[in-house]
Amino acid sequence: MSSTQVNASTLYIVATPIGNLGDISQRAIDILTQVDVIACEDTRHTGKLLSAFSIKNKTLSLHDHNERQRQDQIADLLKQGKSVALVSDAGTPLISDPGFHLVRHCRQQGLSVSPIPGACAAISALSCAGLPTDRFSFEGFLPSKSGARKTTLAALANETRTMVFYDAPRRAVDTITDIIEVLGGERYVVIARELTKTFETIHSDSAENLHQWLSEDPNQLKGEMVLIIEGHKIDPNAISPEIIETLKLLVAELPPKKACAVTAKIYGVKKNTLYDIALSMK
Ligand code: SAM
Repeated sequence: MSSTQVNASTLYIVATPIGNLGDISQRAIDILTQVDVIACEDTRHTGKLLSAFSIKNKTLSLHDHNERQRQDQIADLLKQGKSVALVSDAGTPLISDPGFHLVRHCRQQGLSVSPIPGACAAISALSCAGLPTDRFSFEGFLPSKSGARKTTLAALANETRTMVFYDAPRRAVDTITDIIEVLGGERYVVIARELTKTFETIHSDSAENLHQWLSEDPNQLKGEMVLIIEGHKIDPNAISPEIIETLKLLVAELPPKKACAVTAKIYGVKKNTLYDIALSMK
Protein backbone atom coordinates (compact mmCIF):
# COMPACT_ATOMS: atom_id res chain seq x y z
CA MET A 1 0.00 0.00 0.00
CA SER A 2 3.08 2.22 -0.09
CA SER A 3 2.40 5.10 -2.48
CA THR A 4 3.48 8.20 -0.57
CA GLN A 5 5.99 10.31 -2.46
CA VAL A 6 8.26 12.54 -0.46
CA ASN A 7 8.44 16.13 -1.71
CA ALA A 8 11.75 17.94 -1.87
CA SER A 9 12.35 20.93 0.44
CA THR A 10 9.63 19.81 2.87
CA LEU A 11 9.66 19.40 6.63
CA TYR A 12 7.27 16.59 7.65
CA ILE A 13 5.84 16.60 11.18
CA VAL A 14 5.31 12.91 11.80
CA ALA A 15 3.17 11.51 14.64
CA THR A 16 4.35 8.19 16.13
CA PRO A 17 2.54 5.74 18.47
CA ILE A 18 1.94 6.57 22.17
CA GLY A 19 2.38 2.93 23.23
CA ASN A 20 0.95 0.53 20.70
CA LEU A 21 3.21 0.23 17.64
CA GLY A 22 0.18 -0.82 15.60
CA ASP A 23 -0.92 2.81 15.65
CA ILE A 24 1.78 3.98 13.24
CA SER A 25 0.37 4.98 9.86
CA GLN A 26 1.52 3.71 6.49
CA ARG A 27 2.27 7.31 5.48
CA ALA A 28 4.47 7.73 8.57
CA ILE A 29 6.45 4.60 7.62
CA ASP A 30 6.80 5.78 4.01
CA ILE A 31 7.94 9.25 4.99
CA LEU A 32 10.39 8.03 7.65
CA THR A 33 11.86 5.61 5.11
CA GLN A 34 12.26 8.13 2.29
CA VAL A 35 13.23 11.48 3.84
CA ASP A 36 16.89 12.50 3.76
CA VAL A 37 17.11 12.81 7.55
CA ILE A 38 14.92 12.34 10.63
CA ALA A 39 15.17 14.93 13.41
CA CYS A 40 14.21 13.37 16.74
CA GLU A 41 14.22 14.11 20.47
CA ASP A 42 16.30 11.07 21.38
CA THR A 43 18.21 9.25 18.64
CA ARG A 44 18.37 5.98 20.63
CA HIS A 45 14.64 6.00 21.39
CA THR A 46 13.72 6.73 17.76
CA GLY A 47 16.32 4.17 16.63
CA LYS A 48 14.25 1.48 18.38
CA LEU A 49 11.07 2.65 16.65
CA LEU A 50 12.80 2.65 13.26
CA SER A 51 14.25 -0.82 13.72
CA ALA A 52 10.80 -2.13 14.75
CA PHE A 53 9.68 -1.17 11.22
CA SER A 54 12.98 -2.11 9.53
CA ILE A 55 13.57 1.51 8.57
CA LYS A 56 17.19 2.41 7.97
CA ASN A 57 17.70 6.17 7.86
CA LYS A 58 19.86 8.94 9.26
CA THR A 59 18.80 10.62 12.52
CA LEU A 60 19.70 13.99 14.00
CA SER A 61 18.95 15.02 17.59
CA LEU A 62 16.57 17.93 18.15
CA HIS A 63 15.53 18.62 21.71
CA ASP A 64 14.67 21.56 23.97
CA HIS A 65 18.36 22.42 24.49
CA ASN A 66 19.57 22.52 20.85
CA GLU A 67 16.42 23.37 18.88
CA ARG A 68 17.48 26.99 18.18
CA GLN A 69 20.83 25.83 16.72
CA ARG A 70 19.29 22.99 14.75
CA GLN A 71 16.65 25.20 13.14
CA ASP A 72 19.22 26.96 10.91
CA GLN A 73 20.87 23.66 9.99
CA ILE A 74 17.52 22.07 9.07
CA ALA A 75 16.33 25.17 7.16
CA ASP A 76 19.59 25.04 5.14
CA LEU A 77 19.00 21.36 4.29
CA LEU A 78 15.46 22.18 3.14
CA LYS A 79 16.74 25.07 1.00
CA GLN A 80 19.16 22.64 -0.65
CA GLY A 81 16.16 20.54 -1.70
CA LYS A 82 16.43 17.91 1.06
CA SER A 83 13.41 16.53 2.90
CA VAL A 84 13.36 16.24 6.70
CA ALA A 85 10.99 14.47 9.12
CA LEU A 86 10.50 15.60 12.72
CA VAL A 87 9.37 13.03 15.31
CA SER A 88 9.21 13.16 19.11
CA ASP A 89 9.57 10.24 21.53
CA ALA A 90 5.85 9.50 21.25
CA GLY A 91 2.71 11.03 19.78
CA THR A 92 2.45 14.26 17.84
CA PRO A 93 5.54 16.51 17.82
CA LEU A 94 5.08 20.05 19.26
CA ILE A 95 2.24 18.90 21.56
CA SER A 96 4.12 19.33 24.88
CA ASP A 97 7.15 18.29 22.84
CA PRO A 98 9.92 20.14 20.92
CA GLY A 99 9.47 21.51 17.41
CA PHE A 100 7.64 24.84 17.75
CA HIS A 101 10.72 27.00 17.14
CA LEU A 102 11.76 24.88 14.15
CA VAL A 103 8.31 24.98 12.55
CA ARG A 104 7.95 28.74 13.11
CA HIS A 105 11.44 29.34 11.67
CA CYS A 106 10.70 27.24 8.57
CA ARG A 107 7.32 28.86 7.98
CA GLN A 108 8.80 32.34 8.38
CA GLN A 109 11.29 31.42 5.63
CA GLY A 110 8.52 30.25 3.32
CA LEU A 111 9.54 26.58 3.57
CA SER A 112 6.91 23.83 3.31
CA VAL A 113 5.80 22.15 6.54
CA SER A 114 3.44 19.21 6.17
CA PRO A 115 1.69 17.06 8.83
CA ILE A 116 1.64 13.26 8.92
CA PRO A 117 -1.14 12.87 11.53
CA GLY A 118 -1.46 10.11 14.07
CA ALA A 119 -1.59 9.46 17.80
CA CYS A 120 -1.84 12.21 20.40
CA ALA A 121 -2.45 11.29 24.05
CA ALA A 122 -4.58 14.39 24.74
CA ILE A 123 -6.94 13.79 21.81
CA SER A 124 -7.09 10.03 22.43
CA ALA A 125 -8.07 10.63 26.08
CA LEU A 126 -10.60 13.31 25.17
CA SER A 127 -12.26 11.05 22.60
CA CYS A 128 -13.06 8.50 25.34
CA ALA A 129 -13.69 10.81 28.31
CA GLY A 130 -17.42 11.36 27.90
CA LEU A 131 -17.05 15.10 28.55
CA PRO A 132 -18.05 17.86 26.09
CA THR A 133 -15.64 18.04 23.16
CA ASP A 134 -17.29 20.80 21.11
CA ARG A 135 -14.92 23.23 22.83
CA PHE A 136 -11.97 22.25 25.02
CA SER A 137 -8.78 23.71 26.38
CA PHE A 138 -5.44 21.87 26.23
CA GLU A 139 -3.39 23.03 29.24
CA GLY A 140 -0.22 20.92 28.82
CA PHE A 141 1.67 19.72 31.91
CA LEU A 142 0.39 20.66 35.37
CA PRO A 143 3.17 22.09 37.57
CA SER A 144 4.82 19.43 39.75
CA LYS A 145 4.80 21.53 42.94
CA SER A 146 1.55 21.85 44.83
CA GLY A 147 1.68 25.67 45.25
CA ALA A 148 2.14 26.34 41.53
CA ARG A 149 -0.40 23.64 40.67
CA LYS A 150 -3.04 25.25 42.88
CA THR A 151 -2.32 28.66 41.29
CA THR A 152 -2.80 27.11 37.82
CA LEU A 153 -6.05 25.43 38.88
CA ALA A 154 -7.37 28.60 40.56
CA ALA A 155 -6.79 30.57 37.35
CA LEU A 156 -8.96 27.97 35.55
CA ALA A 157 -11.73 27.80 38.18
CA ASN A 158 -14.25 29.58 35.93
CA GLU A 159 -13.18 27.91 32.67
CA THR A 160 -16.35 26.44 31.20
CA ARG A 161 -14.61 24.33 28.55
CA THR A 162 -13.39 20.78 29.22
CA MET A 163 -9.73 21.04 30.33
CA VAL A 164 -7.06 18.52 29.27
CA PHE A 165 -3.76 18.18 31.18
CA TYR A 166 -0.69 15.98 31.08
CA ASP A 167 0.46 14.81 34.52
CA ALA A 168 2.52 12.05 36.09
CA PRO A 169 0.44 9.29 37.74
CA ARG A 170 2.86 9.21 40.69
CA ARG A 171 1.57 12.70 41.53
CA ALA A 172 -2.08 11.84 40.88
CA VAL A 173 -3.18 11.68 44.54
CA ASP A 174 -1.58 15.07 45.26
CA THR A 175 -3.08 16.56 42.10
CA ILE A 176 -6.57 15.32 42.96
CA THR A 177 -6.13 16.67 46.53
CA ASP A 178 -5.40 20.10 45.00
CA ILE A 179 -8.36 19.82 42.62
CA ILE A 180 -10.66 19.11 45.59
CA GLU A 181 -9.25 22.09 47.48
CA VAL A 182 -9.39 24.57 44.58
CA LEU A 183 -12.30 23.38 42.39
CA GLY A 184 -14.32 21.36 44.91
CA GLY A 185 -14.80 17.62 45.50
CA GLU A 186 -17.82 17.48 43.21
CA ARG A 187 -15.87 18.41 40.06
CA TYR A 188 -15.96 15.52 37.56
CA VAL A 189 -12.51 14.28 36.55
CA VAL A 190 -11.30 11.64 34.08
CA ILE A 191 -8.00 9.81 34.39
CA ALA A 192 -6.79 8.17 31.16
CA ARG A 193 -3.70 6.09 31.97
CA GLU A 194 -1.45 3.93 29.80
CA LEU A 195 -3.55 4.56 26.67
CA THR A 196 -3.16 1.95 23.93
CA LYS A 197 -0.96 -0.18 26.24
CA THR A 198 -1.60 -3.41 28.19
CA PHE A 199 -2.80 -1.69 31.37
CA GLU A 200 -4.91 0.98 29.71
CA THR A 201 -7.36 2.41 32.28
CA ILE A 202 -9.93 5.15 31.76
CA HIS A 203 -11.71 6.00 34.98
CA SER A 204 -14.03 8.91 35.70
CA ASP A 205 -15.77 10.11 38.84
CA SER A 206 -16.09 13.11 41.15
CA ALA A 207 -12.69 14.34 42.38
CA GLU A 208 -13.60 13.15 45.88
CA ASN A 209 -14.39 9.58 44.76
CA LEU A 210 -11.36 9.49 42.46
CA HIS A 211 -9.13 10.41 45.40
CA GLN A 212 -10.37 7.38 47.30
CA TRP A 213 -10.06 5.09 44.26
CA LEU A 214 -6.46 6.18 43.64
CA SER A 215 -5.50 5.87 47.32
CA GLU A 216 -6.76 2.29 47.40
CA ASP A 217 -4.96 1.07 44.25
CA PRO A 218 -1.22 1.85 43.96
CA ASN A 219 -1.19 0.32 40.46
CA GLN A 220 -3.01 3.43 39.25
CA LEU A 221 0.04 5.53 40.14
CA LYS A 222 2.25 3.99 37.45
CA GLY A 223 2.94 4.78 33.79
CA GLU A 224 1.65 7.79 31.86
CA MET A 225 -1.56 9.70 32.28
CA VAL A 226 -3.85 12.35 30.84
CA LEU A 227 -6.10 14.16 33.29
CA ILE A 228 -9.33 15.72 32.07
CA ILE A 229 -11.38 18.09 34.21
CA GLU A 230 -14.98 18.98 33.47
CA GLY A 231 -15.52 22.69 32.78
CA HIS A 232 -17.11 24.98 35.34
CA LYS A 233 -20.89 24.66 35.22
CA ILE A 234 -22.76 27.94 35.29
CA ASP A 235 -25.55 27.87 37.87
CA PRO A 236 -28.58 29.30 35.98
CA ASN A 237 -29.79 30.86 39.26
CA ALA A 238 -26.49 32.44 40.32
CA ILE A 239 -26.37 36.19 39.67
CA SER A 240 -22.84 37.58 39.86
CA PRO A 241 -21.94 41.29 40.28
CA GLU A 242 -20.84 41.28 36.62
CA ILE A 243 -24.33 40.17 35.54
CA ILE A 244 -25.95 42.88 37.70
CA GLU A 245 -23.65 45.50 36.11
CA THR A 246 -24.56 44.38 32.56
CA LEU A 247 -28.26 44.32 33.44
CA LYS A 248 -27.98 47.85 34.86
CA LEU A 249 -26.43 49.14 31.61
CA LEU A 250 -29.09 47.47 29.49
CA VAL A 251 -32.01 48.56 31.70
CA ALA A 252 -30.91 52.16 31.11
CA GLU A 253 -31.34 51.65 27.35
CA LEU A 254 -34.06 48.99 26.93
CA PRO A 255 -37.44 47.97 28.38
CA PRO A 256 -36.86 45.68 31.45
CA LYS A 257 -38.16 42.57 29.68
CA LYS A 258 -35.78 43.05 26.75
CA ALA A 259 -32.85 43.93 29.06
CA CYS A 260 -33.45 40.70 31.02
CA ALA A 261 -33.67 38.61 27.85
CA VAL A 262 -30.39 39.98 26.47
CA THR A 263 -28.55 39.61 29.80
CA ALA A 264 -29.89 36.07 30.24
CA LYS A 265 -28.65 35.17 26.76
CA ILE A 266 -25.16 36.60 27.38
CA TYR A 267 -24.59 34.81 30.70
CA GLY A 268 -26.69 31.67 30.29
CA VAL A 269 -28.88 32.50 33.32
CA LYS A 270 -32.66 32.24 33.59
CA LYS A 271 -34.35 35.51 32.57
CA ASN A 272 -37.08 35.17 35.23
CA THR A 273 -34.46 35.37 37.97
CA LEU A 274 -33.41 38.77 36.57
CA TYR A 275 -36.83 40.39 36.23
CA ASP A 276 -37.36 41.58 39.85
CA ILE A 277 -33.81 42.93 39.92
CA ALA A 278 -34.42 44.80 36.65
CA LEU A 279 -37.66 46.35 37.99
CA SER A 280 -35.87 47.54 41.13
CA MET A 281 -33.35 49.35 38.91
CA LYS A 282 -35.96 51.41 37.04
N1 SAM B 1 3.46 14.74 22.03
C1 SAM B 1 2.82 13.74 22.87
C2 SAM B 1 1.39 13.52 22.39
O1 SAM B 1 1.06 13.86 21.26
O2 SAM B 1 0.59 12.98 23.16
C3 SAM B 1 2.88 14.13 24.33
C4 SAM B 1 4.27 14.26 24.84
S1 SAM B 1 4.40 14.68 26.51
C5 SAM B 1 6.12 14.92 26.67
C6 SAM B 1 4.19 13.13 27.34
C7 SAM B 1 2.92 13.08 28.17
O3 SAM B 1 1.83 12.67 27.35
C8 SAM B 1 2.96 12.05 29.29
O4 SAM B 1 3.61 12.54 30.45
C9 SAM B 1 1.51 11.77 29.52
O5 SAM B 1 0.92 12.80 30.29
C10 SAM B 1 0.96 11.85 28.08
N2 SAM B 1 0.99 10.51 27.47
C11 SAM B 1 1.82 10.08 26.51
N3 SAM B 1 1.52 8.79 26.18
C12 SAM B 1 0.48 8.44 26.96
C13 SAM B 1 -0.28 7.23 27.09
N4 SAM B 1 -0.01 6.15 26.37
N5 SAM B 1 -1.30 7.23 27.98
C14 SAM B 1 -1.58 8.31 28.72
N6 SAM B 1 -0.89 9.46 28.64
C15 SAM B 1 0.12 9.52 27.78
